[in-house]
Amino acid sequence: MGKAREGERVVRALRGAALGALTLLLGLWALSGAGGGRRFDSGIDFDGREDDSTSGSYVPFGAVRTEGTRRPLRPLEMCSWETALEASQYDNEVESDGYPTRHEQHVWNRNPLEGVTCPVCGMQKQTVSFIGSDLREEGKCSHCGSYNRLRQLADIILPEASRLTGIKLQALQDLVHTNLRILNTQCRGVLHKVLKRAPGYVCSEYINGDIPAGQVVEGIRHEDLQRTTFQDETFDLILSSDLMSRIPRPYQGFHELRRILRPGGAHVFTVPFSPNEYHDQIRAVVEDGKLVHWALPPIYMGDHLHPKGVLMFTIFGRELADKLCMLGYNTTVHHLHNAAHGIIGNNAWVVSTVKNTERP
Ligand SMILES: [Zn+2]
Repeated sequence: MGKAREGERVVRALRGAALGALTLLLGLWALSGAGGGRRFDSGIDFDGREDDSTSGSYVPFGAVRTEGTRRPLRPLEMCSWETALEASQYDNEVESDGYPTRHEQHVWNRNPLEGVTCPVCGMQKQTVSFIGSDLREEGKCSHCGSYNRLRQLADIILPEASRLTGIKLQALQDLVHTNLRILNTQCRGVLHKVLKRAPGYVCSEYINGDIPAGQVVEGIRHEDLQRTTFQDETFDLILSSDLMSRIPRPYQGFHELRRILRPGGAHVFTVPFSPNEYHDQIRAVVEDGKLVHWALPPIYMGDHLHPKGVLMFTIFGRELADKLCMLGYNTTVHHLHNAAHGIIGNNAWVVSTVKNTERP
């Protein structure tokens, strides 16, 4: 991947997520009790390298630590990026077409994509227009309103849901005819509208830290994904779209979501992602209940419940896959390109994580 292409990809990722650095400070999870503290009950010290970076001695994530009560991590070769990264159709197209690909060039010349089948609603022969420069947030389906990022999610949810049900599902719409127990971490938007008729569907959002977890406010159930009120093994499928980067301690969130997934269940999600970086870029942390920005300007992500935006704590690197493996997930990072489904552009990363039947 060339430097120019990578730079453009990151800029697009940030442009898609940012509302601007001048908005007022709003770290939604920042002052909640669950955001404090440095460890959680997985027994894995995911924050260790923060300590080491301040002392100047850097220990890469995954090294076995011997001091204190920290338990050894799984060997890195069991959780490697190379095994987690799926062969990319996009990279194959770049190989054959050059960069930008034929489809991207088509769209950048302001021509809509034709003959698109929407993997959210299933409508065929659609003409999808990409008007702005951020392809990830563009290209609305005229029938259901889904755009590129949501269709990316759908393209990975469908094989997971087909695996879980044993039925070949063609569009997200088909999930309403299954008994899958689904948690959507958003209670509005296109995916919510499409899935809410499914009998096993539940949605929740983080509203604010003053509300007791599990309480319903104006029809929306409040949950902190770092510590939810759902019973163990409640869900077959969990969906989140650019959400885990908004949580102060995202790996506590992933650990919690694993608790409420049934063995073999999947969490399918998108996050701001830098494939050329190994380490996560931690932009802010919560220390003793206070929000601390690291030496990076704050980025705020758009949110329908919070018009001023929500702080982005983390831009994930490849260690995401390793850490998820260590938490007890089988993880695949998909780099998608599927023009027939209206999925184009090089910033199309979707992660699927399946709960192992055994603890790591
Ligand atoms: Zn649609």
